[in-house]
Amino acid sequence: MDAKKEMLNMATLDVLTYGFALTTDQGSFGYSTNSLLRVGNHNILIDTGPSSRRPFLVKALKAKGLETDDIDIVILTHMHWDHCQNTDLFTNARVLVNPTEIDYARNPNKWDLAVASGMADMMRNMKVDVVSEGDKIVDGVSIIETPGHTKGHMSILAEINGEKVLLAGDAMPESGTVSRGIPYNIFWDVEDAQESVEKMVAASNVFYPGHDRPFRVEGDEINYLEGPENIHVMDSTEGGGTASLTFTVSATRTVNVDIVQK
Ligand SMILES: [Zn+2]
Repeated sequence: MDAKKEMLNMATLDVLTYGFALTTDQGSFGYSTNSLLRVGNHNILIDTGPSSRRPFLVKALKAKGLETDDIDIVILTHMHWDHCQNTDLFTNARVLVNPTEIDYARNPNKWDLAVASGMADMMRNMKVDVVSEGDKIVDGVSIIETPGHTKGHMSILAEINGEKVLLAGDAMPESGTVSRGIPYNIFWDVEDAQESVEKMVAASNVFYPGHDRPFRVEGDEINYLEGPENIHVMDSTEGGGTASLTFTVSATRTVNVDIVQK
């Protein structure tokens, strides 16, 4: 392959906005990982994030020399609000989603309140293509179905520098999923969720999880690749208040299967 052709086929993967999740005794909250995969002339965005992070996402794209119009493919791992609310920004893009997930978004588990309301309708105005297991998106990028967290959840397998990398979404929200064998939030089916983890671990050992920094599994070890190790939480006692929130950090999170549908 000549050097020019090699350049064209070169794939790069960058996290635009790092995912994280906060679980508190007052409820849970999370922002998704949104990644930019560039293969040849294609600019592929994987998940679009929550609307409250919209300016942050646009800024992160600009830092990579891109405008929203430059994204030609958006892939949604699933249709929870924190993964898809900015999809309408990408009017030039084909939006790829699993058909089962579109159905699920129209009729979710009744306790799955994370499904972005109106999203299935918004998709009617976009260039939506349904994709499923094994579909090849561009050279070296394919779909792997990973249900359980939601009914039609899917992940993306990409070849980067000759290595298989898995963009997991919430089928593997954080590194702890690997040792537990199960993600921490399941809205659809526990067995499916476990099988999806097995499938992902068999397919790759480099993961871009839905709510954690990218990491590599080496034997029993988890080695993080990049990204912020700390989130700065701004608190305020301005105005003369005497009480304020304090934060205690715990290294474990219990698996939430209370609202599983099946
Ligand atoms: Zn989710």
